[in-house]
Amino acid sequence: MTITKVPLLDLTRSDAALLDGLRGAFERVLTSGQYIMGPEIEGLERECAQFIGSQHAIAVSSGTDALVLALMALGVGPGDEVICPTYTFFATAGSVWRVGARPVFVDMDPKTYNCDAAHVRAQITPRTRAIMPVHLFGQCADMDPLLALAAEKGIPVIEDAAQAIGTRYGDRGAGSMGAFGCFSFFPSKNLGCLGDGGLVTAKDANLAETARIMRVHGGKPKYHHKVVGGNFRLDPLQAAFLRVKLPRLPGWTDARRRNAAAYEGLFRAAGVVASDPVAVEPGSIGLPVRVRDHIYNQFVIRTPHREELKAHLAKHGVGTEVYYPVPLHLQECFASLGHRRGEFPHSERAAAESLALPIFPELAPAEIAYVAERVVQFCKGSGR
Ligand SMILES: *Cc1c(COP(=O)(O)O)cnc(C)c1O
Repeated sequence: MTITKVPLLDLTRSDAALLDGLRGAFERVLTSGQYIMGPEIEGLERECAQFIGSQHAIAVSSGTDALVLALMALGVGPGDEVICPTYTFFATAGSVWRVGARPVFVDMDPKTYNCDAAHVRAQITPRTRAIMPVHLFGQCADMDPLLALAAEKGIPVIEDAAQAIGTRYGDRGAGSMGAFGCFSFFPSKNLGCLGDGGLVTAKDANLAETARIMRVHGGKPKYHHKVVGGNFRLDPLQAAFLRVKLPRLPGWTDARRRNAAAYEGLFRAAGVVASDPVAVEPGSIGLPVRVRDHIYNQFVIRTPHREELKAHLAKHGVGTEVYYPVPLHLQECFASLGHRRGEFPHSERAAAESLALPIFPELAPAEIAYVAERVVQFCKGSGR
């Protein structure tokens, strides 16, 4: 079969193998009559806590709401500052803004795309109320220095682990190391539901209980409110779907890693990988350095000719995406923070040069070879 197109992501391929299980989950919820909370939610929370290696897990309505709920449970609000990367998905800083606090941005480590403790330390002030590292694209941030810094300053860590379910840091799971870990079940994440969903993990029983209460308007007992929460519940139907998928996640992660290794092997064999992953010359691509565990929610390459490469791949039927074209300090909605272009050079450059290639688990080796060939063809000049 000749390949003529490769999508960035095709969810129907993984779901096809699960149709019976998903239909069974639907039947189970349909005949239970329980459409809010209940055993499916409790089951999912138990299974996720165990998988992630966290004491407590609280299923919520989305990854964004997981971040908002964690911030609310820590009492972060107006006048407070939260340190987070500028090169990340919008929700990381958007959630800080939504609780009334100020996002304080840090640049990324240009080799791993994650934030590091030295940048964070430089931004700590008496108003810093949380540190929010993101395990970007699925690679674990270097947590020990961040955790040590946070402990030294007495500031809680909220891990944005939306792209990192199952990533390990030594013997600990991403999302299990901070006061809270926040996960997303958005369909394009490594574990996705059939709609929106998320999860908060917590280390401390009291904080977990606060988050649980705030998930349902902050009422405990019901209709008696000491605090104001929101409606951050996950649907039991989504929980039931996720419980069908969770056992498959380790196998999917292995496949993503195999796909990433295949791309890297093909690119290296063709001699198009730049020796310096940051200073990428025309005719070559940069690969982020993998120094810690990675589950490849995204496989990202970089080139100074990103728009041309994207167009070249599109012409050959290859789906790609830019994560993320505008770093958060330059977003219009944050203009009042007073940031300027040039302030976070590594992030700004990554935003201009990064391109995500198809990496989903069910890709065939021939599809990976097809994508790699088109990238190599572009680098060698025949695609431009
Ligand atoms: C996806 C994502 C979120 C938000 O998750 P949703 O479920 O889409 O609300 C937050 N942070 C990061 C880094 C993400 O990738």
